[in-house]
Amino acid sequence: MRKDRLAYFKKRLLEKQRQLADEVGRTALYGKDQEDDSIKDLGDQANTAYNREFFFELGNGDRRLLRDVVSALQKLEGGGFGACERCGEAISEKRLEALPFARYCIDCQRVIEQEERMATG
Ligand SMILES: [Zn+2]
Repeated sequence: MRKDRLAYFKKRLLEKQRQLADEVGRTALYGKDQEDDSIKDLGDQANTAYNREFFFELGNGDRRLLRDVVSALQKLEGGGFGACERCGEAISEKRLEALPFARYCIDCQRVIEQEERMATG
């Protein structure tokens, strides 16, 4: 991949990393607030439990994404950025444009998502 493209993806990834770090930090804080509210307002317990679960999941998703972004940045520095982690083929630039932190090519992504669906039933 050309140097200017790599620089472009690096910029995109760093922006995403900053945005996610903010998000994860805020979710952690918000989760704490929810915890306090559930003690104060027992009348709305079910709703609070639902919210807590929702934000917990959101936090997990962001953390996973953040990990992918960091790993993509490491590959940008160390080499191997843009190559599928499963089959080793180059991930299309169109896909990287949409998801600069993509770990797999579109074909492998489909297979992996299918496997995950089967694993979770
Ligand atoms: Zn692949």
